[in-house]
Amino acid sequence: MSQKPIMVTRSSMPPFEEYVDEIRELWDSHWLTNMGAKHQELERALKDRLGIENVCLFTNGHNALECILEALDLRGEVITTPYTFASTTHAITRKGLTPVFADIRMSDYTLDPESIEKLITPRTCAIVPVHVYGGLCDIDAIQRIADEHGLKVIYDAAHAFGVERDGVSAASFGDASMFSFHATKVFNTIEGGAVCFKDPALYNVLNQWKNFGITSTETVEYVGGNAKMNVFCAAMGICNLRHLDEEIAKRKLVYERYVERLGNIPGIKLNEIPENVTYNYAYFPVLFDENVFGATRDDVYATLMTVDIHPRKYFYPLVNDFDCYRSVYSSDRTPVAKYVADRILTLPMYADLALEDVDRICDLVLSCQK
Ligand SMILES: *Cc1c(COP(=O)(O)O)cnc(C)c1O
Repeated sequence: MSQKPIMVTRSSMPPFEEYVDEIRELWDSHWLTNMGAKHQELERALKDRLGIENVCLFTNGHNALECILEALDLRGEVITTPYTFASTTHAITRKGLTPVFADIRMSDYTLDPESIEKLITPRTCAIVPVHVYGGLCDIDAIQRIADEHGLKVIYDAAHAFGVERDGVSAASFGDASMFSFHATKVFNTIEGGAVCFKDPALYNVLNQWKNFGITSTETVEYVGGNAKMNVFCAAMGICNLRHLDEEIAKRKLVYERYVERLGNIPGIKLNEIPENVTYNYAYFPVLFDENVFGATRDDVYATLMTVDIHPRKYFYPLVNDFDCYRSVYSSDRTPVAKYVADRILTLPMYADLALEDVDRICDLVLSCQK
């Protein structure tokens, strides 16, 4: 049994030789970025894998989200969730839009459609929901609301690569979906991200936004940024994509062991995977009800940390409690999100996590029970 530190995640990497083979030709081409051959190859591979028509690569998921918000030319209020990573809200705010926080639902911690509806005003232009932990939002209800009020829907699908509903990829919903290919995600390009989108006309616009707003050699039409994925990252993506199914299969074994050990414990709530969803086993969130379990989330966190096991309080604190937002917002207005953020712990989850280590983690979690 390994007693090395166990982090919450560990990046997937292809065999070293496979990556070296993939980048060898770059020493011939000397074309390292600016939509080089590997960049195009990864876009094609992603279209195949996700069964979609339109994808545009970026340096990271955050820049991808900023660029799609710019490309859609949005103005006003954007309804979103406080139960997410800083990136979602920061992207909205940095693009001059006003985030408006709706509450989440208890079942899977994604946006509650009823809560969204109550917050719509004449200034609302879009909804930015998050597929939290790779669990899909109530896509149909959200689309109905958007259609009724003429709103755009941009999913933060950073957690949802490889997730499908009835065989349809998470990349297909709403007007657009942002994916993160950060080293800690199920599929990584070291750093990287993408936007998948409905309207094919957006492809050129996104490529221009990610390249300083340059529209031809002598024309610059937008005040764009720089968010181009380099070809070394694209090569990493091409390799990792080949191994994705194996990686997800290994994650599934870890997930199933956790469920076996923690699935029927009073005071512990796990997320359920709906029958028609193919999941990517991205995270293992556990919610502790201290009144039933007899110990708080923070007790469990401290117990694991003393033996060098590093779970994460993900997502805590809520975005509406961040120092940079709390003068304007309050988590009291999103009570379900507040309840969950105070009780959630994501346990270590990655393809190579040994099942003995899962058992050790579960033993420690259960030792906190009173
Ligand atoms: C990782 C993540 C992002 C940002 O992605 P980067 O590629 O790190 O910029 C955005 N939203 C969520 C929910 C994430 O988990």
